[in-house]
Amino acid sequence: MSDREELYDVINPATEQVVGRIEMANADAVTIAVAKARHAYEGWRRVTPGDRARLLRRFADLVGEAADELAALEVAEAGHPIGNAHWEVGNLRDVLHYYAGAPERLSGRQIPVAGGLDVTFHEPLGVVGLIVPWNFPLPILGWGLAPALAAGNTVIAKPAEYTPLTALRVAELGLEAGLPDGVFQVLPGHGTEAGRALVEHPDVRKIVFTGSTAVGKDIAARAAAQVKRITLELGGKSANVVFADADLERAADPMAFCDNSGQDCCARTRVLVQRDVLDEFLAILEGRVKALRTGDPTDPGTDLGPLISARQRDRVASYVPADAPVAFRGEAPSGPGFWFPPTVLAPVASTDRAAVDEIFGPVAVVVPFDDEADAIQIANDTAYGLAGSIWTRDLGRALRVARGVEAGNLSVNSHSAVRYWTPFGGFKQSGLGRELGPDALTAFTETKNVFIATEES
Ligand code: NAD
Repeated sequence: MSDREELYDVINPATEQVVGRIEMANADAVTIAVAKARHAYEGWRRVTPGDRARLLRRFADLVGEAADELAALEVAEAGHPIGNAHWEVGNLRDVLHYYAGAPERLSGRQIPVAGGLDVTFHEPLGVVGLIVPWNFPLPILGWGLAPALAAGNTVIAKPAEYTPLTALRVAELGLEAGLPDGVFQVLPGHGTEAGRALVEHPDVRKIVFTGSTAVGKDIAARAAAQVKRITLELGGKSANVVFADADLERAADPMAFCDNSGQDCCARTRVLVQRDVLDEFLAILEGRVKALRTGDPTDPGTDLGPLISARQRDRVASYVPADAPVAFRGEAPSGPGFWFPPTVLAPVASTDRAAVDEIFGPVAVVVPFDDEADAIQIANDTAYGLAGSIWTRDLGRALRVARGVEAGNLSVNSHSAVRYWTPFGGFKQSGLGRELGPDALTAFTETKNVFIATEES
């Protein structure tokens, strides 16, 4: 079997320079890796909970110690501003620490029954495949990796084509921490080759996928043929709902849709503003959009880096054609790099593709609304349901709207979305299942019920 196909050039999206050349795994390489992971699983599931916890803590510490190196790699392959990149490394470290606490707390239940003792166990699944996107390569790797390992599974991660370098380095740190060979492997490869081979391999018991809805549907259909477990996180078109009584200075934060240059499934790209304060809100937002600094990601003062690729820049640009209703926009460098300026579109019809599709760039649409019911109706008028913000000083209204919006992660008077202590995932076509939080291990285990008779026969 030949386990490698072509070499792939990893490009720095801020400079268009090649920063790495990677061998791409083909389907044969996946078969070999799965056999190795299956073998490693027999040993890993028997590692005592305390030892598994210690290994994960050591892994977390090594990630923390390599923060500068990992952040620099993230800047080089993904173009993220250096401050963001450090946050992302810290998130991976913290998520590993958080789930290091789990093996020793993975208790089953004792259930009262007649004639004996009944107990449940959380058994690991076996080999888990993680298919990781390029927008947050380190955090999203960690959200699957840490709970999967903690629960006793072995893991094969396939990073996105554009961003394999950080994942490969993290795998080395795992080995350095003492993870047995084969417990965590990273296989760079194309989605339609290595990714699909992972999805279709019968010994891969679960796929965790983050990425586009189109690919998520394909994975769900293929997994269904084997009743394979899946967790899907598929993006969104989140609403930022701003009522007239809100703190407008805080609500009009353009980083709500520009963070990571808008390549964020939680980006609040539909800005819903109560009509009475629309002009005031737009005036504040305009000043702040124009003050954003788009440019060199290695500069700590940079707000927005480039988009990941020329393809992504062209896709984002297709939502802002020459006759687009641009209300205002910020700056972006010219020259090498895949730059796109922060852009606000208004007025935009609710049927316009810019108001419907996940653009995955720093582009937002502004939609006025009249009252609470109107706001909820517009917020829910989307196939997605991942995140959103609600800005109001009226606590009752905040709770009514939060209960009314069909989305998995809502923030009141805040633009934050993902906290690793709390469950994360989407309603509707934003996904299936939940990641993170105290219950994540249940998505990486099967419940086994054992009854032990105590009656003499
Ligand atoms: P994508 O869905 O094609 O890629 C995500 C991951 O899936 C990558 O690792 C890729 O190699 C893999 N993959 C691709 N095709 C596959 C297949 N058939 N089987 C198994 N794995 C496969 O995303 P993209 O094309 O790079 O981006 C397109 C759009 O997707 C973006 O513009 C954005 O709207 C959305 N997106 C969303 C997220 C998110 O966080 N939800 C992340 C990335 C992209």
